[in-house]
Amino acid sequence: MSEQKEGQIQVAIRIRPLLQEENKHGNSKLKIDKKTNTIITYKEKLDSQKGFRFDTIIDPYDSQADVFHKTKVHNIILKALDGFNATIFAYGQTSMGKTFTMEGYRYILDRNGRPIPELMDDSNIGISPRVIKRLFAQIYDKEDEDPNFKYVIKLSFCQIYREKIHDLLDDSQYYHDMTSYKRLNPLKLKWKSQDVYEVENLYTFEVESEEEAVTLFYEGVRNKKMASNKLNKASSRSHTIFTINVERVNKEDSDDIVKSKLQLVDLAGSERLTYASKNKALNKECIEINKSLFTLRQVITSLSDKIVRPGKSNQIIPYRESKLTCLLKQSLGGNSYCLMIACIAPCDLYIDDNINTLVYASKAQ
Ligand code: ADP
Ligand code: MG
Repeated sequence: MSEQKEGQIQVAIRIRPLLQEENKHGNSKLKIDKKTNTIITYKEKLDSQKGFRFDTIIDPYDSQADVFHKTKVHNIILKALDGFNATIFAYGQTSMGKTFTMEGYRYILDRNGRPIPELMDDSNIGISPRVIKRLFAQIYDKEDEDPNFKYVIKLSFCQIYREKIHDLLDDSQYYHDMTSYKRLNPLKLKWKSQDVYEVENLYTFEVESEEEAVTLFYEGVRNKKMASNKLNKASSRSHTIFTINVERVNKEDSDDIVKSKLQLVDLAGSERLTYASKNKALNKECIEINKSLFTLRQVITSLSDKIVRPGKSNQIIPYRESKLTCLLKQSLGGNSYCLMIACIAPCDLYIDDNINTLVYASKAQ
């Protein structure tokens, strides 16, 4: 793949395997042409075939490690260590593999709905824990190369559900018997300076090692699982943002600090957005539920318009219109690096969903 331009969005498509229960529906309506890097979809008749070309296509046989390599996440980590902001997010309808891609397996739920660690090796862990591991490996190398600098890593993990922000690292919020998200105290979004929005009172933990960081990440995942298990479907309608704050500090000059942010995002399912467009009343409700996803789509489309038609597009990018886009503002557009992994499934049941995702993903690249 050619070198990504600053501000450009790198798009990869991930096609997950057919799940057992989907077998009876078949998968004849989706094909990958590896020679031309094209995904071909067939609607009813053969003549309504459509091709979508992408730089990176991840097929059902690719492992979690393959995903990490094919999308060149390594480069994004290097950019973050050099002071650039970056974001990686998974997009797509519910059950297409977004959470599997970002988190991977780690917990299963016991009979009482409590998450317990799954016994497994690390081969199925997703992008986020892989980023943590690679980031620390890279930091150790860099600190060896140039002992004048040290890196400080601080982590936070929050969730946006119906435009309310919750702290996934605040355990006290998750250990009582929740019947509603209303019981959780939402946190306020604060405008700090030009591009910077912050969540007030969000826990931010400084971590010294890969192990500490991975443990913290899975604590947040466990809290999310606990909450969503009690509240049907809440997890497919919420966005989670895991933020890795990187600071490169000059040991001899405490004023010489380079800061950047690497944000890893598991988005809410995009289905409500697309199904709704036919019905006005429902549309309004969906926009409310999913204002953040709706705005993110607009932001990304405007950003790619700017690259495709430089000078021509003087559209204002609507970052301020949702919590998600405020929080991601620094790591979308400008001189930041963004990777979107759009997830689809090779099952004929989802052919319309797949097409929606592919159309949107092609526009974004
Ligand atoms: P989403 O987060 O998009 O709603 P999930 O990540 O929860 O979807 O995936 C839905 C189901 O499919 C889960 O049971 C998950 O384990 C399985 N799955 C998703 N992607 C893969 C994959 N690449 N390989 C194997 N199973 C997968
Ligand atoms: Mg999910």
